[in-house]
Amino acid sequence: MQKAHDLVWTDWRSQLKHRISTVEDLRQWINVTPDEEQAIQDSEGKYRWSITPYYAALMDKDDPMCPIRQQSVPSVQEFISFTGSDNDPVGDTVYRKTNRVVHKYPDRVIFLITEVCAVYCRHCTRKYHTTDLSGTYFESNEAASWEQDFEYIASHPEIRDVLLTGGDPLTYSDEKLELIISRLRKIPHVEIIRIGSRYPVLLPQRITPEFCAMLEKYHPIWLNTHFNHPKEITPEAAAACDRLLRHGIPVQNQTVLLKGLNDDLETMKSLLKGLLKIRVRPYYLYHCDNVTGVSHFVTSIEKGREIMRGLLGHMTGFAVPQYIVTTKLGKIPLWEEQFHQDDQGYWLENYNHDTMRVDDPNLI
Ligand code: SF4
Repeated sequence: MQKAHDLVWTDWRSQLKHRISTVEDLRQWINVTPDEEQAIQDSEGKYRWSITPYYAALMDKDDPMCPIRQQSVPSVQEFISFTGSDNDPVGDTVYRKTNRVVHKYPDRVIFLITEVCAVYCRHCTRKYHTTDLSGTYFESNEAASWEQDFEYIASHPEIRDVLLTGGDPLTYSDEKLELIISRLRKIPHVEIIRIGSRYPVLLPQRITPEFCAMLEKYHPIWLNTHFNHPKEITPEAAAACDRLLRHGIPVQNQTVLLKGLNDDLETMKSLLKGLLKIRVRPYYLYHCDNVTGVSHFVTSIEKGREIMRGLLGHMTGFAVPQYIVTTKLGKIPLWEEQFHQDDQGYWLENYNHDTMRVDDPNLI
């Protein structure tokens, strides 16, 4: 479906140029509800929003609960204040060491290279950095010199893993990304480079053969992406992941558990099965953080555990992600123990709730 005469569907730059960011444009794709229109008005001067034509084409025209719509069209709920919500619940600014480097864990850093995205996901954990017009996690700004950032990484030999993230790093040109990646590759102790990008989901045309060939020069490179719903696994998205995989770039997926969107077992199973079919390994299931403007997506931990109980043992082992929450203390697993202890000793429990006593917990 093409709405603009000069839109070249297969060209990612053309898709970016023709992003939808007015209610008039949006009306060409869906029947905008009064609530959606209100939220778009309220976003003026507060939150960015934009949707690639590719992603808009996946929206249900008439259903405001469509998972694609919920993730990309502003909602009036973003403006409700929730107890305990925070602009930076995972502590990126607490652990920030330079303009762009966040050093939270001993052997790895987050490299926040941009605040720009193709689509501003309404549930973004870094909403304050990416979507809030007045917010940023940068110490100064995106255009500041990169020297201190590279120097920090080079002068900390314990850093063996650098994650390029943002915003979405793939918003940059291949040339600019190559400058960053090649510079990191010159630092001997940086063993792996990871890229966190939602482009395979939001604009898979960005994953060009040229881009993949560029990355291949700098292995080992890993890419983590972010599919949340089976509707996002399209032939285009599958082809983008296939291109990455054929260039030796492992693709893993991080899903956020979102209320009313994917917090039911059948949707989650279908998503995970779909990911295996396109050779993308499910990695994390994130409990949604209580981020300002995002809290309406938070579901209960009990719901998350119920889903996990329905997955473990019922699906291929590596289809089952780890259920975790990210906090200022780091990532905390939320999955319940299957190894128990009581007055009579130790016992194990399987996915079917069958139990078995063990005499010595080390000799199972
Ligand atoms: S692409 Fe990623 S960083 Fe950008 S808004 Fe979506 S979730 Fe946030």
